[in-house]
Amino acid sequence: MRIDLHTHSSASDGTEPPGGVVASAAAAGLDVVALTDHDTTSGWAEAADAARAHGVALVRGTEVSALSRGVSVHLLSYLQDPAAPALADLVAQTREARLHRGRAIVERLSRDLPVTWDDVLAQQAPGTVVGRPHIADALVAAGLVADRSAAFADLLSARGRYYVPYYAPEAVEAVEAIRAAGGVPVFAHPGADGRGRIVPDAVIAELAEAGLAGLEVDHRDHGPEQRARLRALADRLGLLVTGSSDYHGTGKPNLLGEHTTAPEVLAEIERQGATPVVRA
Ligand code: AMP
Ligand code: ZN
Ligand code: FE
Ligand code: FE
Repeated sequence: MRIDLHTHSSASDGTEPPGGVVASAAAAGLDVVALTDHDTTSGWAEAADAARAHGVALVRGTEVSALSRGVSVHLLSYLQDPAAPALADLVAQTREARLHRGRAIVERLSRDLPVTWDDVLAQQAPGTVVGRPHIADALVAAGLVADRSAAFADLLSARGRYYVPYYAPEAVEAVEAIRAAGGVPVFAHPGADGRGRIVPDAVIAELAEAGLAGLEVDHRDHGPEQRARLRALADRLGLLVTGSSDYHGTGKPNLLGEHTTAPEVLAEIERQGATPVVRA
């Protein structure tokens, strides 16, 4: 069983439509794939149809943006009820905040570079959850950078001068809202120190207290020390351990199935979740 529990489609910042991600998962030989677009469930229906068509099992999820004392925290919510109001309201607010923040970043960039918000809108379908990757696409289209990764390395870096943060709920509040919606919260890439600041063990312990179910340990943004630290912490706190690709189509080098999750971990996620895994 090959299980990859973290991917993005063009409902947020992946480059393939939701059905295309599922088709690619089938082609990559995966048995189970989770679609976890940022702050939305809008890709779920199309992905479910594709899962039935391609004979791949689909875990419906969302990568929920949050903050812990100003440090960015991404929480994978699996198998939640998409209509549950507390979580739906929370991510709706974040989508709004992402929009304002995207415009603010472009405003800063436009002082030095020929790029406008319309150029960013031209890179995405209406209703897409906007993020820095779409700004990167506008910079690529304008011939200012070679690809998304080059944009993130410099102009869009969280440590760069054009960066603007966005409002997101406190991580404890997000974990509670995910649980209230019947979702299973797993902390995405908690040790990704190349992206920006990361949270200390004490914050992960606090989130575990609030209902966190697991840690995404095997992820390309984690070096060996982070993996060892997180595996030990998961063991100490009684948290599940997952591994996933964080696939974004052609927008990132991450390949489907480059890291995977054990079947017994998925079984426990399914046991705790409010909605079933979609099976063909
Ligand atoms: P934002 O959510 O707006 O802060 O943008 C960060 C998101 O961009 C993260 O989810 C990254 O996974 C994603 N991303 C997509 N492509 C790339 C890339 N080539 N390099 C770095 N991050 C990327
Ligand atoms: Zn992303
Ligand atoms: Fe993330
Ligand atoms: Fe992600």
